[in-house]
Amino acid sequence: MTLLVRGVRLLDGPDAPVDLAIEGDRIARIAPSGELSPGADAQVVELEGRWATPGYADHHVHFTMWAKHLSRLDVSAAREPEDAAEAIRVALASEHVVEHTAFVARGFQDALWSHEPTGALLDGAALAAGQDGRAIVVVSHDLHTVWLNEAAAQRFGAPRAGVLREDAAFAVEQAVDREAGEGEDELVGAALAAAAARGVTAITDLEMADNPSVWAGRIRRGLDAVRVTANVYPEHLALSVARRERTGTVVPDTEGLVTVGSLKLFADGALNSRTALCHEPYPGGGRGHAVYGEGELEAVMADAHAKGFSVALHAIGDLAVQRALDAFEASGARGTVEHAQLVAPGDLPRFAELGVGASVHPEHALDDRDVTDSLWADRKSRAFPYGALADAGAALQFGSDAPVAPLDPWFAISAAVHRTRDLREPWEPANAVSIEQALAASWGSPALVEGGPADIAVLDDDPRTADMPTLRGMYVALTVSAGRVTHRTY
Ligand SMILES: [Zn+2]
Repeated sequence: MTLLVRGVRLLDGPDAPVDLAIEGDRIARIAPSGELSPGADAQVVELEGRWATPGYADHHVHFTMWAKHLSRLDVSAAREPEDAAEAIRVALASEHVVEHTAFVARGFQDALWSHEPTGALLDGAALAAGQDGRAIVVVSHDLHTVWLNEAAAQRFGAPRAGVLREDAAFAVEQAVDREAGEGEDELVGAALAAAAARGVTAITDLEMADNPSVWAGRIRRGLDAVRVTANVYPEHLALSVARRERTGTVVPDTEGLVTVGSLKLFADGALNSRTALCHEPYPGGGRGHAVYGEGELEAVMADAHAKGFSVALHAIGDLAVQRALDAFEASGARGTVEHAQLVAPGDLPRFAELGVGASVHPEHALDDRDVTDSLWADRKSRAFPYGALADAGAALQFGSDAPVAPLDPWFAISAAVHRTRDLREPWEPANAVSIEQALAASWGSPALVEGGPADIAVLDDDPRTADMPTLRGMYVALTVSAGRVTHRTY
């Protein structure tokens, strides 16, 4: 025995507390409390009747972006572009040292603004703050849009200043990240500790990078607080294949903590950018953006399938979701639809029929409820349809899509169950799920069992009976990932 977790209650176990004996990264024994003796070398933690559950898995994060995000100016409260520019001016004016890196802010939702922001507005903010010519980049809340000034456009090779969307926006975001590469480990370490403090023991990383090798390097440098499923983008697929990787490959020299995940593909854009691909037009016209033409998606997925990769397929609008399911069906590929924010009724049962998972991000439903009421007013009863997906037998997996929402499984669980996070009425409550469904969609393993992984979160409250504020702010006393204590509060 290497670790003894003493005096915990299990959600599906007896009323009396039990002890969990951990051996390496496995649960060796579960026994009535007091029956097991730890031996001289074992670490012992006393939990005094708290609730133990499987560790929490965030099935969709952009981890490096999240780690950096924590240090960027948040302009999400801006009601118009001028408000965001003013917040940036104030932040620039308060910098003590003149930085030569770009100034990066985050969080705007231009779908809620009355007019398009301009590069000149940011130039004005820089000038007024005494930093004429400083490159400024503002990344949208959903990451699919950037707003930048002329200096930033030149610096990052963008076609022009102003607003850029989709691929042009992603290119700028990646260039900004490359510039800010120094000091990254420190930020990653802090973000890992914060995740462990919320009970997280596993993440699926969808950073636009060569994730298997990025994480192999991090594990070697001691950044090993969570298990990582490292997804792969088309740009890095050849590299992965050359390393003989496929979905499920355990990456060598990572203590078994890093596994190769799915190939990440995009079928469409996003709601706020009005690029999510829909059957019906948006109020201002247009049905969104299809990333692939007729037959192309199916071919790319068939190629992935032949190479041993499952597919994590971003599809937000209902037409994109339909095409995604069609492509899974035609190609034989396995995997998940990521987001599934709008689903046509006829497509709901196809998730279960095809064995395609629904990887969803419930906090987005609350972030986007006003945008949805405006852009999808005629179809909002079908938006963020977690209840309908669960009823149709779809396998739900919850995630945060951090940095779009904070990397916190309790936000996702609470949002999916309560469909509100404040004093507002629950939004489209018919699409809520039960707490049991929300927990199952968030756990890294189905239950704590002998022989199972020693990935454990110990909670102060029983999540099944906790009210909304308690659930959202769930107090995590202890986190064990792969048999190691990664967080404890006492
Ligand atoms: Zn994402």
